[in-house]
Amino acid sequence: MKSALLIDDDPIVRKVLSKALSAAGWIIHEAKDGEEGIQAALKHHPQAVICDLLMPRCNGFQVCRALKGKMAELPGLTIIVTTNRGFATDRLNAFESGADHYLVKPVLAEDILKILEGSPLDPAKAKSPPSNPSPVAELPAGNLLRFWGVRGSIPTPGPNTVFYGGNTTCIELRADNQLIILDSGSGIRLLGQQLVEEFKQRSLALTLLLTHTHWDHIQGFPFFAPAYIANNQVHIIGYEGYRKGLENTLAVQMESSYFPIGLRQLPSNITFSEQRDMDFHVGPVRVRTIFANHPSVCVGYRLDTSTGSVAFLPDHESYARMRLHARAGGEKAPETLDYCRGEDQKLVEFLRDVDMLILDSQYDAAEYQSHIGWGHSCYEDTVATALAAGAKRLFLFHHDPSHDDARISRMVGHARELVASHGSNMEVEAAREGLSVPLLKPARG
Ligand SMILES: [Zn+2]
Ligand SMILES: [Zn+2]
Repeated sequence: MKSALLIDDDPIVRKVLSKALSAAGWIIHEAKDGEEGIQAALKHHPQAVICDLLMPRCNGFQVCRALKGKMAELPGLTIIVTTNRGFATDRLNAFESGADHYLVKPVLAEDILKILEGSPLDPAKAKSPPSNPSPVAELPAGNLLRFWGVRGSIPTPGPNTVFYGGNTTCIELRADNQLIILDSGSGIRLLGQQLVEEFKQRSLALTLLLTHTHWDHIQGFPFFAPAYIANNQVHIIGYEGYRKGLENTLAVQMESSYFPIGLRQLPSNITFSEQRDMDFHVGPVRVRTIFANHPSVCVGYRLDTSTGSVAFLPDHESYARMRLHARAGGEKAPETLDYCRGEDQKLVEFLRDVDMLILDSQYDAAEYQSHIGWGHSCYEDTVATALAAGAKRLFLFHHDPSHDDARISRMVGHARELVASHGSNMEVEAAREGLSVPLLKPARG
């Protein structure tokens, strides 16, 4: 005889369904929580389990996983998960846990009977076919760069960071009809709102270049509004990380334990490219990369546009400064010194004559002493690198969360004195949220 197990902490639901299913010729067992339900399933071997999602002692996801792990003992078992909530993410998670069907309460006995008797109700909706994409919007003429997040490590809102801003790393670059975003820290949320406002119904195609996947460089992506609009194309480029690939790492921060919408549920067309080469193009913009001296896999980018070049290394520590210091082992062998200086020189060559340089300047030299080996620079090193490379304009970047506006302004003042003491006319500023900088190829000569 056919039997089914009802697991629900609501006695009224159990009573109503039990009565209707019994009348249809089914033997019904009941359990009042998930733990009791698992035991009852193993004892009675029902053909079907109708299980509530949220119950004391053991939730429906756990019941599904436990029973699916015992399929040898429960051949042919059908699991129907019922819930009082219609969230898409719960539905997906239930299927992922092993549910065969998912019904939102109030659940009618006739719906359950249709499933049990082989005429599946409301088959899982096929993913809607992609609609014809509308033409991608043209960007307004003129190349420019805009800072949306300039802070390192963690967002720091508050009255003391109003001028430079508290959002983590995000920069917008519009160049040669390409919309390129550098990193997706919390600053990308406001950029996304701005893009939606500006482009309205028109399709957007944009490229997100990630330096690395530390949290302050990816945490804003789940709040990036253009990713929620079908027809938008979001191409994410970066390098495979230490343990997991790029896509996986971004998907993990949107798993249902952390965020209500999964990366793969986002309606826009999101594609990933894990770069293998260090020199490629985004449209006509040439992109070159260099590995930074920073924990895990982290790169810096140099972008050459038709109206000037931009280099972006938000997280980097001088090789020589780090390796030669006593706290990092104090390697003093001449060959080590030569080697580290050589690595620093490679960066200088990478940055040679760049028009706009955005470089890690998290600390000053005194603070750096207690942060050796953290993968960040003091602005004194940043200025030295920029001067050696012949950069035209330097932006101090990745501001320390503990630095207020006054402190950053003092750092800029001192950085300018350093530049002047070298007889250079390189411009120095601290990157600040909302600052827009046109890319105009400077007149040579
Ligand atoms: Zn960072
Ligand atoms: Zn980092």
